[in-house]
Amino acid sequence: METTKDTGTRPHRVVVIGSGFGGLFGAKALRRSDVEVTMIAKTTHHLFQPLLYQVATGILSEGEIAPPTREILSGQKNAQVLLGEVTAIDLERREVTSTVLGRPTVTPYDSLLVAAGATQSYFGNDHFSEFAPGMKSIDDALELRGRIFGAFEMAELGASRGDDVDHNLTFVVVGAGPTGVEMAGQIAELSRRTLRKDFRAIQTHHARVILLDAAPQVLPPFGHRLGEKTKQELEKLGVEVILGAMVTDVDERGIQMKFKDGRVETIHAVTKIWAAGVQASPLGRTLSEQTGAPLDRAGRIAVNPDLTLPGHPEVFVVGDMISLDNLPGVAQVAIQGAKYAAKEIDGRLSGKAPQPPFKYFDKGSMAIISRFRAVAMVGRLRLTGVIAWLMWLAVHLVYITGFKNRITALLHWFVSFLGRGRSERTSTEQQIFGRSALARLQGGAADLVSRPGAYDEARDMIEKTRRAELEAQAAEESRLTDEGVRGVPAEQR
Ligand SMILES: Cc1cc2nc3c(=O)[nH]c(=O)nc-3n(C[C@H](O)[C@H](O)[C@H](O)COP(=O)(O)OP(=O)(O)OC[C@H]3O[C@@H](n4cnc5c(N)ncnc54)[C@H](O)[C@@H]3O)c2cc1C
Repeated sequence: METTKDTGTRPHRVVVIGSGFGGLFGAKALRRSDVEVTMIAKTTHHLFQPLLYQVATGILSEGEIAPPTREILSGQKNAQVLLGEVTAIDLERREVTSTVLGRPTVTPYDSLLVAAGATQSYFGNDHFSEFAPGMKSIDDALELRGRIFGAFEMAELGASRGDDVDHNLTFVVVGAGPTGVEMAGQIAELSRRTLRKDFRAIQTHHARVILLDAAPQVLPPFGHRLGEKTKQELEKLGVEVILGAMVTDVDERGIQMKFKDGRVETIHAVTKIWAAGVQASPLGRTLSEQTGAPLDRAGRIAVNPDLTLPGHPEVFVVGDMISLDNLPGVAQVAIQGAKYAAKEIDGRLSGKAPQPPFKYFDKGSMAIISRFRAVAMVGRLRLTGVIAWLMWLAVHLVYITGFKNRITALLHWFVSFLGRGRSERTSTEQQIFGRSALARLQGGAADLVSRPGAYDEARDMIEKTRRAELEAQAAEESRLTDEGVRGVPAEQR
């Protein structure tokens, strides 16, 4: 592989796409290498996705789970961070094009690490997203926070007018994987504990919290026993678990589902949350078209055993975007993959032999159900209850990025789990409706700013026409003061 280092003109340039688990851990793993790392990501933060549901339900603040990437990498002299959504990768020219507010930037590379993750999948029904937001980003979590707390507010208003508010007090979570379970559990705790004394016209603990899934069990990857245990714990909390139900329609007022026997039912619910299905980043398709590497149904790209692409040993793809040996879409796959890729890049530069194929080490999985209740799988161990919950607490504390975030998260957990409070209940109308409003603009946020160059043209024009006017106005103001004629009728001056 040609490296610019070999020519002695400049250091080897590594471009990292994404600041999630793969991107951040990959960039950090290159801190001692003789390379120039450029991380390009469409957000300025590193997101700890496993705790998004706690932002959505008012336990944690967004800053606690999304520290600025720039700050995390500030001490790493060989790394720089660029904001931008990567819209094109040219494998032939070895260039990445990214865009912010319609302004493109082209960044060349010698090695590329693609860790752009996955988005929510609505299984071909993308219009559901308008009424049932997913949970993949800080925007999603804050929108959901607004919708959840807003639903109680709307119910209180309606009830005080004597209206039927059942649809406001019904919450449907679609998808009984870890995220759906955690979300349903937290909404149940909110309604039964946190908000119980805060309203006058409604009884928040009568809220219906429904968890539904097309699968016949809760948490399928945790096996039958832990799935059944989780279902029982949820039901004890007051969550209705509906299994074998395929969502067939979602609108403003409700959700329609169809059962295996053909039965169709509608649940009237204003708040719907989509926690089912993921689709790999569309960058997978770009890479597939240029290399012939196949995509699976979830859009994940088949990579070589060393995480590179066919014919492109300089391009590594890691994390949620890849399809390799049925690896799950979890943080450790992304972290370990990114570290492997970084080691390979470094090794090649110092002339080391290639590593053996990438091997994932499974450290276990866990899901929290409610305070003091969780399920965990570590090797052959199957844990439930308080022990699993304490394990969850310790693991998440270790993996939250930044010392101050760990301390504040711990404090917030004390407030929410030992007490009944939630420190982060602030929500605004813009959080709830901002996404839909932006989606109605054809070019998104870029429509709200001047096109490149237009601002300068407008400023020049304003300067020409307004300068004389402003100077005359200032001269008149000054004359009125100097001549002491303010407040004196014109005929007496
Ligand atoms: C709600 C939720 C809960 C989860 N819970 C757990 C859990 O408990 N345990 C666990 O192990 N895993 C969990 N996961 C899965 C885990 O978060 C992912 O497997 C992991 O984040 C994958 O890492 P990644 O680097 O591939 O992608 P991500 O971490 O998603 O990072 C992708 C990055 O790429 C950026 N990006 C995307 N597209 C572009 C583009 N075009 N241009 C520039 N940048 C781009 C994004 O902004 C982001 O920075 C959860 C996921 C979610 C959504």
